[in-house]
Amino acid sequence: MNAPPPTEPVFIARGLTKTYRMGEVEVQALRGIDLELFRGELVVLLGPSGSGKSTLLNILGGLDTPSSGEVFYLGQRLSGASEAELTRFRREHVGFVFQFYNLIPSLTVRENVAAVTEIAPSPMPPEEALKLVGLGERLDHFPAQLSGGEQQRVAIARAIAKNPSVLLCDEPTGALDSATGVVVLEALEKVNRELGTLTVLITHNAGIAAMADRVIRLSDGRIAEVRANPLRKPARELSW
Ligand code: ADP
Repeated sequence: MNAPPPTEPVFIARGLTKTYRMGEVEVQALRGIDLELFRGELVVLLGPSGSGKSTLLNILGGLDTPSSGEVFYLGQRLSGASEAELTRFRREHVGFVFQFYNLIPSLTVRENVAAVTEIAPSPMPPEEALKLVGLGERLDHFPAQLSGGEQQRVAIARAIAKNPSVLLCDEPTGALDSATGVVVLEALEKVNRELGTLTVLITHNAGIAAMADRVIRLSDGRIAEVRANPLRKPARELSW
């Protein structure tokens, strides 16, 4: 029997810790994280508020640095990289989606996406990214003319239009009702399937976990469980 082809992890984290100091008080946000994330996966990071999910995502995305331990992106060491190197890493390889959409109100949908692709090395046309998230007909609208879910899909289009290898999403449905949230998750699912972008999705909502290839559950700054779903449940069938 042939062995499966080896897959190089996109991210490797070893012994990551993060301690925040605020005056006399120390908060241990991460207490020793070891993980590997692979090309094309959709991974849900699950855990209660304060368990360290955002801290971990921010370190993977080069927005923050660990207190100790190491993190590698395709063999390149991110821990210890300079601020300029991290900025370049983020610009070239990482798309971020946050709970709040941070669109520029005075720019149209198309212009919001184009503002990012102008500085990316190998972008896709803004129209294509917007079509992928189902907003191909809303190019000339302004953010205020769109619903919350539509604005979040613009934010997803903006994140993917630079063709990132990694899409990091921190509570992307946190501000949305569940029916609207499902449409946003369908857009992320489609991006992951069609572009093969490694997608990491933070949620405190266990109902979303079924759409993942793997679920990594954090508790108190540690990985409590890693679970592979035998089958991914389509986002439209999720409920929470
Ligand atoms: P989650 O995303 O799971 O809600 P976080 O990673 O945001 O968890 O936070 C983990 C812990 O670290 C929490 O106790 C939080 O209060 C603390 N924390 C996060 N960011 C900071 C910061 N910039 N300064 C101080 N403490 C922080």
